Amino acid sequence: MTAMILDGKATGEAIRKEIAADVKRLVESGGPTPCLVAVLVGDDPASQVYVRNKHRACQQAGIAGDVRRLPANTSQAELLAVVDSLNRDPVVHGILVQLPLPVSDNPALRIDTRAVLDAIDPAKDVDSFSPVNVGLLMQGRPRFLPCTPRGIIELLCRYELKTSGKHVVVVGRSDIVGKPIAMMLAGTDGVCGPDYANATVTIAHSRTRDLAAVVRTADFVVAAVGRPRLIHGEMLKPGVVVIDVGINRVGESLVGDVDFESASLVASAITPVPGGVGPLTIAMLLRNTVTAAQALSASPM
Ligand code: NAD
Repeated sequence: MTAMILDGKATGEAIRKEIAADVKRLVESGGPTPCLVAVLVGDDPASQVYVRNKHRACQQAGIAGDVRRLPANTSQAELLAVVDSLNRDPVVHGILVQLPLPVSDNPALRIDTRAVLDAIDPAKDVDSFSPVNVGLLMQGRPRFLPCTPRGIIELLCRYELKTSGKHVVVVGRSDIVGKPIAMMLAGTDGVCGPDYANATVTIAHSRTRDLAAVVRTADFVVAAVGRPRLIHGEMLKPGVVVIDVGINRVGESLVGDVDFESASLVASAITPVPGGVGPLTIAMLLRNTVTAAQALSASPM
């Protein structure tokens, strides 16, 4: 079997065009121009690239984007003050603090990431990291859906890969990907309807005994680990759908958490890295920003 490639790049571009049309409609109907502000602390090269890509994607969709660049030695109080001013600014609809925040050599100057994320107004928390938004998601009444999990479900939906009644193994239990995608796929009403939810979900993680045996039971595998090529073809059931979230730098290349070569001989469908889940994550960030602008303009601050 040779797997169908799930083209996140093309799907992401199609979704971004839809978002651009939504933005145009919103503005033409007298609504605000959605505005996303990214806060970038320090000069981590990967973060610079991510923020630049997000900024460019905003511009292409007609979303006003701004980047607040702060030096690596910014204190927690200074960063919180920036977040507070963005919370109060009626022109700003979405706030994104790019992670990871720099870690100072001086423990007294270390920024508590959780405190910063918690300080973002939940109505502007387009990454959906705040406890209020996570709680709403857990209760099945989300305000925003976290970007990477939402992107995965949109991708499955556009390729009509239905999860209802299927066994999904999520490898990784992070707050950003593993936990929310597990919760969303196990829920009843997915963002794309019940066919793309209602799965039986197993979460595997670093203490899982015999990962291969667990993964082999899956109809769908979502790998969000951060270990290059951890999952390979021999661990997979023939016909499985593989969603590879991992982005790992190996030498000059980017590789996923799945060994693409061996997995694509066994799977029925698989996402490549790069060009799989990544472009969907950015598209969903734009979508959440438009949702925030619509909600905030309907009930102004
Ligand atoms: P994380 O780094 O916060 O956590 C990794 C998880 O993997 C942990 O829950 C841990 O229990 C699990 N794990 C570690 N070793 C394991 C092993 N040997 N077997 C099974 N489980 C193991 O995870 P994250 O933030 O979700 O990131 C995971 C990967 O996804 C990274 O490569 C990251 O760069 C990538 N990522 C990509 C996107 C995207 O848009 N494509 C978005 C977010 C994260």
